[in-house]
Amino acid sequence: MVELQGKSVFSGIAIGRISVLEKGDQLVKRHPVQETEEELARFEQARTKAKEQLQRLYEKARSEVGEANAQIFEVHQMMLDDLDYVESIANVIQSQKINAEFAVATVGDNFAQMFQAMDDDYMRERAADVKDVSNRVIRILQGKEKGTVDSEEPVILVAEDLAPSETVQLDKSKVLSFVTHKGSTNSHTAILARTMNIPALIGVELAEKLEGKMAIVDGYEGKLILDADEETLCYYEKKKEEEEEEKKLLLNLKGKETVTTKGKKIHLYANIGGMADLASVLSNDAAGIGLFRSEFLYLESDKLPTEEEQFKVYKAVAETMAGKKVIIRTLDIGADKKVDYLNLEAEENPAMGYRAIRICLDQPELFKTQLRAIYRASYYGNIGIMFPMIISLEEIKKIKEIVAEVKAELKDHGILYGDVELGIMIETPAAVMISDKLAEEVEFFSIGTNDLTQYTLAMDRQNPKLESFYDPHHEAILRMIEMTVENGHKHQCWVGICGELGADLSLTETFIHMGIDELSVTPSMVLKVRDTIRKI
Ligand code: PEP
Ligand code: MG
Repeated sequence: MVELQGKSVFSGIAIGRISVLEKGDQLVKRHPVQETEEELARFEQARTKAKEQLQRLYEKARSEVGEANAQIFEVHQMMLDDLDYVESIANVIQSQKINAEFAVATVGDNFAQMFQAMDDDYMRERAADVKDVSNRVIRILQGKEKGTVDSEEPVILVAEDLAPSETVQLDKSKVLSFVTHKGSTNSHTAILARTMNIPALIGVELAEKLEGKMAIVDGYEGKLILDADEETLCYYEKKKEEEEEEKKLLLNLKGKETVTTKGKKIHLYANIGGMADLASVLSNDAAGIGLFRSEFLYLESDKLPTEEEQFKVYKAVAETMAGKKVIIRTLDIGADKKVDYLNLEAEENPAMGYRAIRICLDQPELFKTQLRAIYRASYYGNIGIMFPMIISLEEIKKIKEIVAEVKAELKDHGILYGDVELGIMIETPAAVMISDKLAEEVEFFSIGTNDLTQYTLAMDRQNPKLESFYDPHHEAILRMIEMTVENGHKHQCWVGICGELGADLSLTETFIHMGIDELSVTPSMVLKVRDTIRKI
């Protein structure tokens, strides 16, 4: 039996086989072959398998993010049927007598360059698609499939690190737990694990040959246990059963109010990254959505989501929540959340760089497309909008001007929209310090403790080396929360917390005494927070 120690970012027990997720594109080596027929057959098999994968992805995406967002997987399937593409690969294999991987890589690069050189924007965008499709076929040929969990059984997913753009592509029903070497408590993988209510570890040394091994993840002690002996396995199976029992008990709190013994009511909302999280919001009985991280729509796509595509998602979320509050945070891209199609330049300090509201104010058309989609959806439910990374009054003034333009344009076109509450995230020390002034301009504040901690303590939330220093309980953070609540309330602005600290049960009572009005937490924590509040 081997125990590998890491750090837990979400508790729970998982027992299952390990699947190791390979990172990055594989190096494709050229080597001569004798039997070109064999290589042609290998290519054919890989092509068929890739099409099957894409069909599954298409169906999954269609049910989760709608037809428009799913279409890209159909386009990829069509590319794999394109005669020019397929015949070119076969030609290269036969004429150069080389391995299928290299032929696919060569033809993929050639086609991408050809698309890149075209005048038409649409065709230029296909360059990334043809590369993506070719990489998929290459990974299948190499037996290393990045970003997919191929096993029929759910697995413990082990990786060096996981980027948000990778985790959004995972088939979540196949993941029992995340275990990574890199990553930090506040990384988006950790947030995803909490949303999915599965144990997750970071900081685990992954030297062993792990693929396919039976393992136990102990999300309480931060351990990955390999080749467990009979006694250990029994112990963890029992613990897992107890966990299930506890979950059942919490379900008794469904339908009950979130109220303290003295009668103070708290709005207990949930954080989501997309439509796929809605089931968990409903099953955990959240009273609304306090943070919809809309950038995940952008991360899931390989081109800019159109107004129509976004509208459909926002409308579906608003309708599913049936009149309950849905607060959509406008695009918070940049820092660790990157998409190729925005062509964001590499930066020395991305967390303090060109991100979030800065990009939106700098590229008003991008911003307006999203705002139009949200306002149109607001007709179908109870939508609020909040803006990330605010540091000044000027930003709010500019935002309001743009919002007014969007509303006027919709009105001109006879498009209906609802009453939309406008708020901001308080996640920079600057915003805290001027929160008295900011409160005069908006209807609510939502404190983003993840970034607020990073900027207040001057500590990169993504850096695993800083894990032991990163202290969201630091007195400076608690004072900032208190100050924000006081300033908000002076101006009739309600104040909530949507950062991870909102679900920290050791602070729930402190937040209530500070006067917090709302807590927005990962769906799996809703009932635990309700339980805690009802005992205060
Ligand atoms: C935060 O910073 O606390 C927050 C909720 O936003 P994100 O984690 O998406 O940056
Ligand atoms: Mg943030």
